Amino acid sequence: MQTRRALLKTSAGLTLAVGAIAALPSAVLARAPIVGRQAAGYYRLKLGDCEITALSDGTVALPMAKIYEGIEEKDAETYLAGYFQKNPTETSVNAFLVNTGDRLVLIDAGTGDLMGPSLGKLVTNIEAAGYKTGEIDDVILTHIHADHSGGLSRNGKRVFENAVLHVNEREAKFWLKADAAAKADAGLGPQIVQAEAAVGSYIAAEKFKTFADDAAPVPGFTSVLRKGHTPGHSAIAVESKGEKIVFWGDIAHGDVLQYDRPEITVEFDVDQKQAAATRAIAFAEAADEKYLVAGAHHAFPGIGHVRRDETNYDWVPLLYSANY
Ligand SMILES: [Zn+2]
Repeated sequence: MQTRRALLKTSAGLTLAVGAIAALPSAVLARAPIVGRQAAGYYRLKLGDCEITALSDGTVALPMAKIYEGIEEKDAETYLAGYFQKNPTETSVNAFLVNTGDRLVLIDAGTGDLMGPSLGKLVTNIEAAGYKTGEIDDVILTHIHADHSGGLSRNGKRVFENAVLHVNEREAKFWLKADAAAKADAGLGPQIVQAEAAVGSYIAAEKFKTFADDAAPVPGFTSVLRKGHTPGHSAIAVESKGEKIVFWGDIAHGDVLQYDRPEITVEFDVDQKQAAATRAIAFAEAADEKYLVAGAHHAFPGIGHVRRDETNYDWVPLLYSANY
């Protein structure tokens, strides 16, 4: 049983202790300021002899429930909410750098300054990852949409000053040799102007090459025509020591809805029907062959596998590894 004297002693001690804490320097209380910005956006993995660096151009909140076609907006919103995804939906824009040991190849080039300050971070993240833009030998585009080509040029100058730019030939024809009617189209016209501005400086400098359907754009890199989203949209693949990764471009927008319902398209698909058919083929092949997939609009770093489940497919993100 505690005596009154002991109790007094204890409470005196307690008072002293509280006083001592209050007198300590504020650093101990850890009132650190809120940082308010994300860490550098790059992530590395090994693929055989290649080193691959996923690079974030940033994220943008897009009204995906509205952008999806073939589903009511309300239904898409409910579906996404089931995966804790809000409307608008935080959407990644990713690019990928492949170091084969012989060359440094960038796949897609982000938005540049075309889509606001939450994006356009590609060069910052290339530098954070330890590279300079001038070290990149080749840039391969999956397609010419502004979120893949916008970062190629700044104020009419090439951002990747030593790189050769590679684009599928029918993609180049569609965007860069468009006729007056296409240029006058309210939807396509502004995209054609953006495409010309992004790619033009590489053409002027004779740093622009096209590749045929399913041809190898650069030694060590193959392509597969995956048309629909755009006419020359191509997946780019790299293999090393029996491992394979396919850079998908815009085969899927988001990580969930189109995996359960591959027939759902997006309003930016140039050919909706073809885009859905292409997605079905790309999903089936990735699930069968079990190769790694890198998506431009899957949550950063956007690398994972496709598996079949009772509702068509699932996107399975790669496990983070500190020892790659
Ligand atoms: Zn895109």
